[in-house]
Amino acid sequence: MNYTGDAPRRAMPEVDRQAASRAAVAARQARAVVKQRLRSGELSPIRAMSNAQQAGTPEASLRVTEFLQTFPAIGETKTVRLLDELGISPRKRLGGLGVLQRERLEQFVRDRVGATGAGQTPALTVLAGPTAVGKGTVAAYVREHFPAISHSISVTTRPPRPGEIDGVHYYFTDDEGFDRLLAADELLEWATVHNTHRYGTPRGPVRDAAQRGEHMLLEIDLQGARQVRASMPDARLVFLAPPSWEELVRRLIGRGTETEDERARRLDTAKVELAAADEFDEVIINDEIPLAAARLVELILAPKGVA
Ligand code: 5GP
Repeated sequence: MNYTGDAPRRAMPEVDRQAASRAAVAARQARAVVKQRLRSGELSPIRAMSNAQQAGTPEASLRVTEFLQTFPAIGETKTVRLLDELGISPRKRLGGLGVLQRERLEQFVRDRVGATGAGQTPALTVLAGPTAVGKGTVAAYVREHFPAISHSISVTTRPPRPGEIDGVHYYFTDDEGFDRLLAADELLEWATVHNTHRYGTPRGPVRDAAQRGEHMLLEIDLQGARQVRASMPDARLVFLAPPSWEELVRRLIGRGTETEDERARRLDTAKVELAAADEFDEVIINDEIPLAAARLVELILAPKGVA
């Protein structure tokens, strides 16, 4: 702002300064209460946004950054990305949003917690994570011990391994078969994994399970998880992480059969894959398989935003 030409600004009298500072402290405390109520689920984010329309409410002066960080699994890095996607400056307060910004933020909130604001249980949960973290083992444990959860059976161009049964572990097909599924738009997501074979999730069973009110688990790679996020924002994305970097290295190269180059390449890939954890709604540490599986099932069955 340009003050040129204005009357010289007088210093604020001491008593006014004290009153202003008391008011600022009170406002900060009121915002802290709002954040606490948002975190506990007592105040729905949609209601908070609607309160913010009223000038003078603590919600109106809450920064969008702080608002977003009351959601589970939204940290600083994710907030920066979200604000960028929503076209909102990090300094903006909830009460100071433009109409379009408010609409975009509200849409994001509805997608995340469900239209009621109270949270709905998503029909679909995606389990992804770095290579060698043990996704397949955790998913197999869930399949064996928690029969109420449905599992998607992927289509792949990889040949069956000994003991693998067509229609149970995968639907095995060739390149032409996979191309036909793609052309008919029958895959919800697909990816070429490890630069070799193609894998994809058939749409039909996912749709049918949702219609029957079942909870379905998809164990897929990161590229596939990103596609699901884009096409089904209501799906829950769970990242399976190793207990430590050293442990992942051990699981990745433990067999010691790879060349030095191959090992370096795998470790580079693992670093990139680990960095993707921030894109997910939830992170589970795969320390002990039964515990990781139980936590996963707990998440699958919980309303989104409150697990
Ligand atoms: P594998 O060949 O060892 O059974 O699986 C290799 C990788 O393919 C695993 O990381 C697994 O998560 C991924 N994968 C299996 N099915 C699918 C799928 O339908 N879509 C995607 N994107 N990845 C899959």
